[in-house]
Amino acid sequence: MAKKYDVIIVGCGPAGIFASLELSHAGIDVLLLDKGREIEARVCPIQGGSESCLFCSPCHLVSGFGGAGAFSDGKLTLSTEVGGPLKELIGFDEAKSLIDYVDSVYLKFGAPHEVYGTGEKVAELERRAILSGLKLIPVKLRHLGTEHCRWALQAMQKHLSPKIDIKLRTAAKSIIAEDGTVKAIEANNGERLNCTYLILAPGREGSEWLTNEAKQLKLNLNCNPIDVGVRVEVPSVIMEELTSVLYESKLEFYSRSFDDRVRTFCMCPGGEVIMESTGGSDPVITVNGIGYTKHKTYNTNFAILVSTTFTEPFHEPIAYGKYLARVANILSGGILVQRLGDLMEGRRSTKARLQRSLVEPSLKAATPGDLSFALPFRYLKGIVEMLQNMDKLVPGVAAAHTLLYGTEVKFYSSQLQLTPCLETEISNMFAAGDGAGVSRGLVQASASGVVVAREILKRLDKNLS
Ligand SMILES: Cc1cc2nc3c(=O)[nH]c(=O)nc-3n(C[C@H](O)[C@H](O)[C@H](O)COP(=O)(O)OP(=O)(O)OC[C@H]3O[C@@H](n4cnc5c(N)ncnc54)[C@H](O)[C@@H]3O)c2cc1C
Repeated sequence: MAKKYDVIIVGCGPAGIFASLELSHAGIDVLLLDKGREIEARVCPIQGGSESCLFCSPCHLVSGFGGAGAFSDGKLTLSTEVGGPLKELIGFDEAKSLIDYVDSVYLKFGAPHEVYGTGEKVAELERRAILSGLKLIPVKLRHLGTEHCRWALQAMQKHLSPKIDIKLRTAAKSIIAEDGTVKAIEANNGERLNCTYLILAPGREGSEWLTNEAKQLKLNLNCNPIDVGVRVEVPSVIMEELTSVLYESKLEFYSRSFDDRVRTFCMCPGGEVIMESTGGSDPVITVNGIGYTKHKTYNTNFAILVSTTFTEPFHEPIAYGKYLARVANILSGGILVQRLGDLMEGRRSTKARLQRSLVEPSLKAATPGDLSFALPFRYLKGIVEMLQNMDKLVPGVAAAHTLLYGTEVKFYSSQLQLTPCLETEISNMFAAGDGAGVSRGLVQASASGVVVAREILKRLDKNLS
């Protein structure tokens, strides 16, 4: 008879890893499953010199042990205010204490001790942001950098390997439930993997799979706002006053024309713009940013994202986000890059214009073009208005040479209906991390994994006593 695991976890990203770390001490049978590879075997062809995205399946940047965390910039945002809606789901006190706990675990696995975003200068920057029509959300932040983040996750892989079963290069194909209770996962090789508890932590990359499975199981889904935007790249000196104090400045703005929430996201001082492919069997290429602590570029990049909420009968936020990303892919073969000055003049950027630019693009594979063909007016307008306001706080950020890469889309737009312990409407089936819409970053993804694992341990204890 096939083995039955106490717990199966789908997804080896921070949510799945932190759930595993909690469960690994309990002497129970745990299986951690991921469609990607071991962390050491994850090499993006672009970083190996390829000029364009080869649509690896699955994408090495976001799949495998470490999940999207393995190539992330490793910014640990130590606040309940950013990185996801965990505080609304589990309460402020619980979220705060979990964030501190998660931070202590990253420290144990090698995160550096320095913390940004504290001190008198922060209050001064907040004041100046208000005068520029922006809200600066002060956030304590620990920066691991892409290499430290990878090392910390690698150390977790080494720690977990002897304690639980880890099955890589194997995708979960479908969820099997009977009479409202979860029973098993069917893997893509046809194998049935039985379990008492199931944790779904497939990340943004797997959010479409999760949404489709949820529909099959007739679960209710809420639509999160859709985040669409561009990645901005400027010379590092322009952002230095902010980044030296805050590392990442979380700025928020409401667009004058549409009253949409527009915000900066994932700032990478001295970092590189990269492309990633998401969306499983029907992938699209989107843009993102990373930063090493040692190899710095002369540029700083960050996303400007516009959040919009759609109303009935709209139920396809992921399909909509993919559609927008695909337009840029069709136009450019991947990622478009345009100088802000060219966008404002109503003309495309060309290789020659980029060569005359003050900012050398860190993503060499991006194609010079015209973002106004790829992004709806509403998004572009919000982005330009935000940059103009930011220019009052950070002179030079809205210069003609500023580079805009498109499209950046965040695929966490469908949220399963969950209880405060993150259980779905199927008994013993839990969801954690970005793919389930309960987090938007490393810390809250990790914390959500801990929430679920502790609930399962409580139930297992009860069953034993
Ligand atoms: C380039 C980049 C930079 C980033 N920088 C930062 C940063 O500085 N700070 C920050 O807080 N956040 C950052 N992030 C976001 C952060 O990485 C994510 O928020 C975090 O990794 C989410 O964790 P997760 O466990 O929910 O999912 P993920 O890390 O996405 O992991 C999900 C895993 O599930 C697997 N999976 C999906 N579907 C299946 C399936 N059907 N079967 C089996 N396995 C499956 C995937 O292969 C993947 O390995 C960055 C992300 C990227 C891509």
